[in-house]
Amino acid sequence: MENRTIAAIATPNAPGGIGIVRISGEKAVEIAARIFRPVSGKPLTESKGYCAHFGDVYDNNEKIDEAVCLVFRAPKSYTGEDTAEISCHGGLYITKRVLRAALDAGAIPAEAGEFTKRAFLNGKLDLAAAESVMSLIGASGKQAATAALNTLDGNLSREIRKCADDIIGICASLAAWVDYPDEDIDDTGAADMLPIFEKTKAALADIIRRYDCGRAVTDGIDAVIVGKPNVGKSTLMNMLTGFERSIVTDIAGTTRDVVEEKIVLGEIIMRVADTAGIRETENIVENIGVNLAKRRLERAELVLAVFDGSEPINSDDLDIIEQCKGKKAIALLNKSDLPMAADRKIIGDNFPHTVELSASTGEGRDALENAVRSIFKTNEFDPNSACLTSERQRQCCVNAINHINEAISALNMGVTLDAVNVCADCAIDALLELTGDRATSAVVDEVFSRFCVGK
Ligand code: GDP
Repeated sequence: MENRTIAAIATPNAPGGIGIVRISGEKAVEIAARIFRPVSGKPLTESKGYCAHFGDVYDNNEKIDEAVCLVFRAPKSYTGEDTAEISCHGGLYITKRVLRAALDAGAIPAEAGEFTKRAFLNGKLDLAAAESVMSLIGASGKQAATAALNTLDGNLSREIRKCADDIIGICASLAAWVDYPDEDIDDTGAADMLPIFEKTKAALADIIRRYDCGRAVTDGIDAVIVGKPNVGKSTLMNMLTGFERSIVTDIAGTTRDVVEEKIVLGEIIMRVADTAGIRETENIVENIGVNLAKRRLERAELVLAVFDGSEPINSDDLDIIEQCKGKKAIALLNKSDLPMAADRKIIGDNFPHTVELSASTGEGRDALENAVRSIFKTNEFDPNSACLTSERQRQCCVNAINHINEAISALNMGVTLDAVNVCADCAIDALLELTGDRATSAVVDEVFSRFCVGK
């Protein structure tokens, strides 16, 4: 399969200054030469790598665009294969037409992530770095982009391979014992292993902790806005998004669906859902909205519980307070531009974080940002250190820690050393699955299926 030459549009499916059709594989330049004629008259097939040619793109004998064709020669390209990139005018029709011409000339359509997958299979980058390519593309802010770039540079893989190497060292001495079981490994041998396991475990736990702190910045968190009707939930949603997304009215029970938006609060990314006001109601349609809101509240990572600060707390508010128990939640005392009538103590006693704000004027937005920051400890996130960039990578670290724990217990219990060896081997497997050095093809396929076509 790897010999087939693939093609795809590498730029977004929208009008733009330029659109790029990327062709990669053994016949990339040959296929490009069938549809692209350089004005210089020199055959494209004789082009060296790192060369740009100006010319015309043809579909059969019909000229369809003027373009620049970049030629890369294996192994010095993104994929490690011969590659041609045709930069044409970025119209929706033109880029599709150029792609069609490339396919008619012998290329096959690239699958999602296939260019990067080939780069991985050709040893241009490891699996962790490949995943960071998608994180870099999806980054919504500076910290997320810096973290992804660091992983792409290999910071994470270096740290993970160091952990794996330390355990491989242990396995080497254990293998000696497995080969010569009659020769006792003395107590000092076992005692030497423990600190290495502990040190590796601590290093991995630290990597996980940093990822968890950074998740609000890199992946974003699922937040929900709840509150009884008319406290200002929709106004808050509009304030956070910066545009009118939710309908604001004085009529209670107006928002019935869940309205969802991705918002950026400082460096923090939140997928915020505005829900129907939660209150006791006989109205069947409103009740559907109330139940949707309650379900959303249950699975949210962060609850923004809104109260009308200009009114006393009532039984509907107490019901909301009750439902927020045990959740990461921030109480928002809204309408701070009006005189305060709500009992701050009731709110303060039930929420570790209270923010007084005015959704209509935007006053208090910074305080909300600080509260979210402190709950998710984003200040402890250092995008310049080795950063995990996916749940898959996190799970590999968790698995490695579990196997190390088993190895430590086996050592402490004085179980035979081959049991320790097996656990240590599993830990190494988990770490090398993260970097892709020992990932199965199913894992590799799964990683690249989440990519976009053309990357
Ligand atoms: P929801 O039912 O909780 O979504 O509440 P809305 O966002 O529809 O707002 C209900 C009413 O409260 C509207 O008349 C808003 O203009 C008003 N409101 C919302 N936020 C504020 C605020 O911060 N200050 C003041 N004075 N009024 C607000």
